[in-house]
Amino acid sequence: MSGLITEGARDPVWLDGALVEWNDARLHVASFGLNNASCVFDGIRVYNGVPFALPEHCSRLADSARAIGMDLSFHPDQIARAVLETIAVAGHPEAYVRPIAWHGSEVVGISSAGASVHLAIIVLPWRTPAAHRADGVVLTRSRWARPPANTGPVTAKASCNYALGTIAHREAVSAGFDDALLLDYRGYVAEATGANIFVVTEGMLRTPIADAFLSGITRGTVIRLAREHGLDVVEARIRPRELAAAAEIFLTGTAAEIQPVRAVDDIRLPAERPITTALTHAYRHATRPTAVR
Ligand code: PMP
Repeated sequence: MSGLITEGARDPVWLDGALVEWNDARLHVASFGLNNASCVFDGIRVYNGVPFALPEHCSRLADSARAIGMDLSFHPDQIARAVLETIAVAGHPEAYVRPIAWHGSEVVGISSAGASVHLAIIVLPWRTPAAHRADGVVLTRSRWARPPANTGPVTAKASCNYALGTIAHREAVSAGFDDALLLDYRGYVAEATGANIFVVTEGMLRTPIADAFLSGITRGTVIRLAREHGLDVVEARIRPRELAAAAEIFLTGTAAEIQPVRAVDDIRLPAERPITTALTHAYRHATRPTAVR
């Protein structure tokens, strides 16, 4: 299992404005969000009791809702307050927070008109997922491609975009790899199934232009940290064959943080990763501010 396991979870869930018991946070099988993937969510890490980049995650949730035409009545500031309330009650110093919004069960069909909008926030104690590999993950190129922006809300954190990543991940793991590398519809390198990708070549960092996939908050943080460290970073079109010349490759994401890549199919990356290591340290300091005081 590569995600966070919910078995045994007991923390209260924030649901439509109030905290309820974990087992009472239910939805109906007729929910429009379930039937039509009319659902958006986000993922936030809590470090030393403090959620990292909370305003950015709450704004992104609101943006994702807008992208699928969902009328989320909560302002990002209200969502942020609700997140803080939920993590305070749960009391885990290290946690993962999942705010999620979906259309309710009033209608079955194509139009979401008339369906209520729900917002929930769950908190799970953080445990490093079994899929995390300190020595680097091995990726395989997926047969699935990230589709163009006129096929859906491809840059939103919306459930409809996750079907592809979930299938690609399952296929990669069944074939003995840790994760899949998705190209985009043009054949350029896009991302892994739940994390963005950076490629280091001749001391320069490159990351794909995020026009066909989620532009991660961690991606933005890493670009900023790299520049603060005097590194050159460009957003670029990267062809898969260019990966063979890479000195380092790593993935970024809220859950993955900075995850080194050991190999992409038969391309093996060097074990020495000075830039990945430096950025990992910088990211740790950025996310755990009390540790540097
Ligand atoms: N791409 C996908 C498909 C993801 O699910 C994630 C994780 N949210 C990312 C990229 C990285 O985004 P972030 O850094 O905001 O977590």
